[in-house]
Amino acid sequence: MSAEKEPINLYNLSLDELTGLLAQWGQPAFRARQVWDWLYRHYAAEFAEMTNLPGDLRARLTSEATLPIGEIALSRRSADGQTKKVLFQMPDGQFIETVLMRYEKRRTLCISTQAGCAMGCVFCATGQMGFMRHLSVAEIVGQVLYFARELAAEEQHVTNIVMMGMGEPLHNYDNTLAAVDRLTDPKGFNLGARKITISTVGLIPAIRRYADEQRQTPLAVSLHAATDEERSRLLPVNRRWPIADLMDACRYYVAKTGRRMTFEWALIAGENDTEEQANKLGQLLRGMLAHVNLIPLNPTAGYGGAPSSPERVARFQEVLTGYGVTSTVRVRRGIDIQAGCGQLRDRHVNDRRLSTLDPSE
Ligand code: SAH
Ligand code: SF4
Repeated sequence: MSAEKEPINLYNLSLDELTGLLAQWGQPAFRARQVWDWLYRHYAAEFAEMTNLPGDLRARLTSEATLPIGEIALSRRSADGQTKKVLFQMPDGQFIETVLMRYEKRRTLCISTQAGCAMGCVFCATGQMGFMRHLSVAEIVGQVLYFARELAAEEQHVTNIVMMGMGEPLHNYDNTLAAVDRLTDPKGFNLGARKITISTVGLIPAIRRYADEQRQTPLAVSLHAATDEERSRLLPVNRRWPIADLMDACRYYVAKTGRRMTFEWALIAGENDTEEQANKLGQLLRGMLAHVNLIPLNPTAGYGGAPSSPERVARFQEVLTGYGVTSTVRVRRGIDIQAGCGQLRDRHVNDRRLSTLDPSE
């Protein structure tokens, strides 16, 4: 059998590793910096674009390395053209979803960190599909580079990233944080650390580790309920890491970093949008350096809940204000293109399943 070598995925390498690789190939260190520039400043898609490299190096890169982003399985733009969602299919068949949201001044990307998710939150389309695997650094960074390339053609760039696509970022801690380091590298993509938000379901040991590392990248915690009974019903992870322990970890993060903690709350009619839940949340966060994002539920196929009415949302917010707790109501973008977490993949796989059904069956 032929022992053909796997091509080297350049997006998986740090600058040091790339420098090491090119040194093995007899190239001077500045060549690695040139390649790095092509990858992270010019978002090159092909080695042929790297015109300032000697021809033999380009040829060797072409034969031994790759710049994979994945196949585009599906791409959708919302009716107003401001939101675009792409479903990438990886060589092993897994899907990755990424959403670009254009605001007046910002271009925010919502990226995935895992294919599927192991946390099983009942209202979440990704949770409903289960866990497939972690994404590599290359797969996380690749989502950003794809859109950076597309925006560059319009002389625009990615200004913000939220890790709120498929998956639990802190369950894939090392790759997620390596991707953050890559994207904030001043010699490369150079996005400000504060422009990236990591959203977590509340993995306590990981939150504490994150606090100890004194990272500048903001953290958001998906709380969604203020009593253990209610939260365990919505987020099974709460049975392992209950609210009191989670709040201890959050206070530890705030104390260690001096940064405020954002809490996410998907408002579900008659479930967690009650006066009682609002009061309990107010009591929980009173006096803390915290902010709450209220997001009316985005309905999903596997969960019967409905979004709260605007009146309930307003009342919930009013109760929080009474405790001195600040909050923002967020409108989910791109509902018409299944831009909610995990929903596009869900639709795509189900549609395909339907279209491959044998009509004689
Ligand atoms: N796993 C991480 C990040 C991805 S989910 C986390 O859970 O925080 C990003 C956010 O979307 C989370 O706050 C999550 O609870 C929320 N979310 C998931 N499904 C939703 C839905 N159907 N409607 C509203 N918000 C949802
Ligand atoms: Fe996973 Fe987040 Fe969805 Fe929960 S809400 S299942 S943690 S992606």
